[in-house]
Amino acid sequence: MRYRELKIETGREDLDAVIAELAGGGFDSLMIDDPDDAREILDDPGKYKYDYYNEEIARDLDRRPVITLYLGCDEEGAAGLQKAEELLRRAEEGGADLSYEVNTTGDDSEWLYKWQENFRPVRVGERIVVKPSWESYEPAGDDLVIEMDPGMAFGSGLHETTSMCIKALEKYMPEGAAVLDVGTGTGILAIAAALLGASGCLGIDIDDEAVRVGSENTARNGLADKIDIIKGDLTEGVDYKADVIAANLMADLVMRLSPAAAEHIREGGIYITSGILDIKEDIVRDAVEKAGFEVLETIADGEWRAIVARRGRA
Ligand code: SAH
Repeated sequence: MRYRELKIETGREDLDAVIAELAGGGFDSLMIDDPDDAREILDDPGKYKYDYYNEEIARDLDRRPVITLYLGCDEEGAAGLQKAEELLRRAEEGGADLSYEVNTTGDDSEWLYKWQENFRPVRVGERIVVKPSWESYEPAGDDLVIEMDPGMAFGSGLHETTSMCIKALEKYMPEGAAVLDVGTGTGILAIAAALLGASGCLGIDIDDEAVRVGSENTARNGLADKIDIIKGDLTEGVDYKADVIAANLMADLVMRLSPAAAEHIREGGIYITSGILDIKEDIVRDAVEKAGFEVLETIADGEWRAIVARRGRA
């Protein structure tokens, strides 16, 4: 499908007024690129408690903010464009400094195709290989294959934090384990655990989209009978005793989760945590130990760390 892209560049001080004008006219799906947001994150990374951010946002902080909105190429899209242009004229009359352009852009099938070129079968552990649905892959030896397409949820297997968890599952998970996957995203860790011989897995995510995509992926890999995916905040309200807990979150969340993880794991159970930046390794390790775990191994990949620990006697 082709679509129209309306790109509006505004003066720094006029951004909020232009957004308000468009929102007042019913345009509420706006993509906003505001260098000030980037500046705030870069100046004080602790403020938002993000360990990941897209480095693209740090490019040229003096650029003007840009609002993008997408409209169809059909009649409805044409009427929408006319309305948006009227609202922009009104904002200009009110003193806003803005300019805009309309591009009729690509076909999203072309875009999808580009994605496909970059997403090939990838080995993410010793045995686990992740492949997109449109590629065929002939498993060699004792390979286990996860079929997964890139989507909105995090967890294609390509991120170092994910592959470290998968390697830890391969190394430490006992056969027949009950596995809790906290922050399941695409469901990739629960799926890997089930393929590696877990008896059952519960995946939890705070994000609706992840719960939807995770359940879809579970079914697509034929594991719906072994894996449940539910919505939740860490393990709040969850009644599950696990042999293995995998949590690829970020440092602050891993620290918050650790005491609850100790409650949800059997004696001798394995706690795999990832998403930890090197600079936070020590404080996370302390929190994991304080919660009653013995650290077995720290895995490193670039700036990322994963900590594998065992629950001692309560
Ligand atoms: N397990 C996947 C995804 C990791 S990304 C992988 O290893 O690749 C982290 C996931 O944690 C995201 O999907 C995010 O929505 C989820 N998350 C963030 N905060 C959470 C919380 N408080 N409770 C549960 N899930 C959370």
